Amino acid sequence: MGNDNGEVHVLFFPFLANGHIIPCVDLARVFASRGTKATIVTTHLNAPLITRTIGKATINIRTINFPSPEVTGLPENCENSESALAPDKFFKFMKALVLLQEPLEQVIQEEHPDCVVADMFFPWATASAAKFDIPRIVFHGLGFFPLCVLASVRQYKPEEKVSSYTEPFLIPNFPCELTLTKLQLPQVPQHDKVFCKLLDDSNESEVTSYGVIANSFYELEPVYADYYRNQLGRKAWHLGPVSLCNRDSEEKASRGREAAIDEHECLKWLQSKEPKSVVYVCFGSMTSFPDAQLKEIAMALEASGQPFIWVVRKGEGEKLEWLPEGFEERMENKGLIIRGWAPQVMILDHEAVGGFVTHCGWNSVLEGVCAGLPFVTWPMYGEQFYNAKFLSDVVKIGVGVGANTMIGMGGEPVKKDVIENAVKRIMAGEEAEEMRNRAKELATLARKAVDVGGSSSNDFNSLIEQLRSRSH
Ligand code: UDP
Repeated sequence: MGNDNGEVHVLFFPFLANGHIIPCVDLARVFASRGTKATIVTTHLNAPLITRTIGKATINIRTINFPSPEVTGLPENCENSESALAPDKFFKFMKALVLLQEPLEQVIQEEHPDCVVADMFFPWATASAAKFDIPRIVFHGLGFFPLCVLASVRQYKPEEKVSSYTEPFLIPNFPCELTLTKLQLPQVPQHDKVFCKLLDDSNESEVTSYGVIANSFYELEPVYADYYRNQLGRKAWHLGPVSLCNRDSEEKASRGREAAIDEHECLKWLQSKEPKSVVYVCFGSMTSFPDAQLKEIAMALEASGQPFIWVVRKGEGEKLEWLPEGFEERMENKGLIIRGWAPQVMILDHEAVGGFVTHCGWNSVLEGVCAGLPFVTWPMYGEQFYNAKFLSDVVKIGVGVGANTMIGMGGEPVKKDVIENAVKRIMAGEEAEEMRNRAKELATLARKAVDVGGSSSNDFNSLIEQLRSRSH
């Protein structure tokens, strides 16, 4: 045991991106709240984000050095993928990660944990853990549906059977009829052999590690939880939704980066709105749109007639010159634009919020589900197209805007009328009511899953038992 009290000690090593760090810290909080010693390893510049998200929980942080610009070819202070979004920087950033192996092993040696939970993008962490005879578990914050699609696409390569980027193909042997196009698959620069190998190894680590922790609960996706374990043969524990460890308003507000709006001001604004009337619009921690697209969204929100909170990441601190003329005056009491980071979970959980326009990052999907909300789905990259299909076709609580091209692969802006129509469909009328009722049922099941005796709580017990018996 890594601890004098005989408790299990788990070391967490999240990928250096906000959408990976936040759920990993939540996961560490789940472990800490159940009497497990938790330590998070990260680089210096990512530590403040983690400290804020830890809140009052007892979790240690160990910092390691990110390799210097001379070694990586990256600019100074580029330690989070949010500051490495341009493709040339991103590939250098991903390749630099292997240099974290030695510092991580140093920490393992000093901390004597019983297990390492590391993101898929650190495939070498399995070998690092093995050096100390402890298991490595993979956590990349996803649920079973996207995990199943990712694994099936890797296994069957259905995209190789079509001749164009737009020709649809089916995922073979999948539990539901799932159609995709090549435009919706992550685009890999085939000429970059080092990067391709990193991706292959990352995917492989799901198979070669001790197992995978899914950020999900069984009742949300039983068919896919079973398929992942029984058909794809993966060992997995579902411990989510991990965001539910944030119980009070202060915890919800301090999660992630420092919010660009005062928490009390935001709550006061929400308080002044009717229940279920506000549409919350946010596209995650990384996406920013071109001006032409932002303008279409602005016009759509105004035309929908609903009050809204809209998180705009582009040009934080700059003037909103792309807004339609007079928009801010007309929307003065109706719309709140947050320039930068929003306290998302706090907003979603407020009774005034009635719908969520999202890019379908898995964290946002689960946070919206926990709030019992219907979604407008607007996927852009990574596995978000799969998550969007999950919301609209599997659990049937989402309406799409017809986005079907990975961002950066061309395509016209989504037009105002399409966005307006989708927002109206989730906010009012019979269809909206039905979706909201289904979402509310899922929200109730999510809470039951993490309570004592629930499916996620039980899976946690089983994981801890396995770790305990291993380390005796
Ligand atoms: N988030 C937030 N405020 C923001 C943007 C994002 O709190 O303004 C949080 C959100 O609650 C979620 C995470 O950041 O937990 C984003 O993860 P997701 O998987 O939804 O998208 P990604 O940013 O990875 O694309």
